Parts: sequence; C-alpha cells; structure tokens
Amino acid sequence: MRYYTLKHKDVAHVAASKDGKRAYLLRAYKTMNVLLLKGHDGSIPPLSEALDLNDDSVEILSPIPHPRADVICLGINYSDHAKEAAGFDNEAFGKDRPDPIFFSKRVDYSQGTGNIIPMHEDICDSLDYETELGVIIGKEAFRVKAEEAMDHIFGYTIINDVSARNLQTRHKQWYFGKSLDGFTPMGPCIVSKDEFDGIPELDIKTWVNGELRQSSNTKNLITGIPEIIEILSAGMTLSPGTIIATGTPSGVGMGMDPPCFLKDGDEVICEIEGIGRLVNKVMATESL
Ligand code: MG
Repeated sequence: MRYYTLKHKDVAHVAASKDGKRAYLLRAYKTMNVLLLKGHDGSIPPLSEALDLNDDSVEILSPIPHPRADVICLGINYSDHAKEAAGFDNEAFGKDRPDPIFFSKRVDYSQGTGNIIPMHEDICDSLDYETELGVIIGKEAFRVKAEEAMDHIFGYTIINDVSARNLQTRHKQWYFGKSLDGFTPMGPCIVSKDEFDGIPELDIKTWVNGELRQSSNTKNLITGIPEIIEILSAGMTLSPGTIIATGTPSGVGMGMDPPCFLKDGDEVICEIEGIGRLVNKVMATESL
C-alpha cells in the first residue's frame, strides 16, 4: 500500500492507494503521525471517498509534513560515497570510521514533491542534494536485535537530505547546514514494507536538470537497515513516526571535479525504485 498526505479543497487528508493513481481517504486518521501511532492493516474502509492523484485539485504533500521529531540521519553510509567523501579533505567529513556516523536534521516542516527548495543564498554558497531511502518506524523499538528489526518498520519513503556544504564545514557539526528551512523534501508517499521482499534492494538515482548524478542501489549501504535499528535502539527508543535517512550514494555536487552546486531554477529529481520520484525546484530565497 502507498500512503499519502493530500491536500484537497484546502483540507489535508491521509490517503491510501494500491496503484499510485487513485487514493482513498482514511478519515479515521487526522494525520500520518496518528496513523503511524495507531497502525493500519492496509484495508480500505467501505464507501471511502477516492481522489485521482493526477487531478489538479489534489496536491500531494510530504507524507509526514510535520515530523514528530528531527530526522535521524546516517552520514557516509554507501561505500562509493565514502570514497568520494575521503577526497573532501576536511575535518568535518573525517576518514576511517568503523561505526556509523549519526547526526540529526531538524525539520519543522517537510515539503513534498513539487515544492521549492529555498537557496538561502545570503548564508549558503554551496547548496547540495543527497537522495536517501527514508525508513519510517511503525512499532516502538527498544533493544531490538537486527533479526527482529524489520518487524518495527512501517514503510519507506524518499528524502532529499539537502545540505549547505559551507555551513556543514564551517560549524564542524553538520546539524545547522542540514537543517535550514526547506531542506527536508520528502515523498511522494510512504510505501508499506510488505510491498518489498525482506530488506529492500532498490535502485536509487538523482537527476539535476535531466543529468544523472547519483546512481546506486540500497544494497550498497555500509550499515544495513536492520543493523541501524539494532544500534540505535540499544539505547534510544524509536517510537512510531521516527524517520531514519539511511545515507546517500556517491555523485553529490561537492564530489564533482570541480564541485557543482545547485543554483536558482535547477530541478532535482530523487528516484527510488518501487517508491517513485521526489521532484523539487531550487529557488533563490530572495524571490520567494
Ligand atoms: Mg545525507
């Protein structure tokens, strides 16, 4: 099942779709966070109203417009990106790290597909994209072993971990440079885990203005999804609605020679097999 947050006639709804074309409103759940807390068995209530996802009157929002907490992120979690990052040659990116790098990304409001990524050009001179598989927790996890970790996942989405590289390096910790307003586009939907066979091995790609920049597969994660949940939950309760961004493959703008950062008017498409496409345009903050 594919779960959406939709805006129709100025009202936001949670909706479920089997085919990604027609979505049925789940009126029992006011928000996606409520659905994640209560759980959902994948059934569509009889007589529920259906909306055409391609209709102009329907706006697809981020599946979780207001996350209950900051996004938990992994840094340098694809082997190819690790090689790329080793060339960045600055303290903030580090070199050999046997254990996963965790950091958090503050998100007050997550925008959906079709929304703008603001450039924050007054403080950011190096805006970059990172396409990532987002894991959505559906069942509280505390001291969960990797073998049982998949039971605690509700589903998956696409996150663009937008980054201001100059702030990331200037402030040493990545928190600020990852957390500016508009830096967490997410969507277009959450696909429930039963749509995938076990641990998902999905092609992950990014295009900027039609040019393919990132292309890998989630099987190349250094620390896999079950292990991420085991490590975190050993000391941290992961409650329903927790969002984990699992890291990005190589091909970010900072890794190019010379580096190639996002500019006003650029279109970024983040795609993950079986989930869909998250499409956002970059716009100078001054013009917003
Ligand atoms: Mg990232």
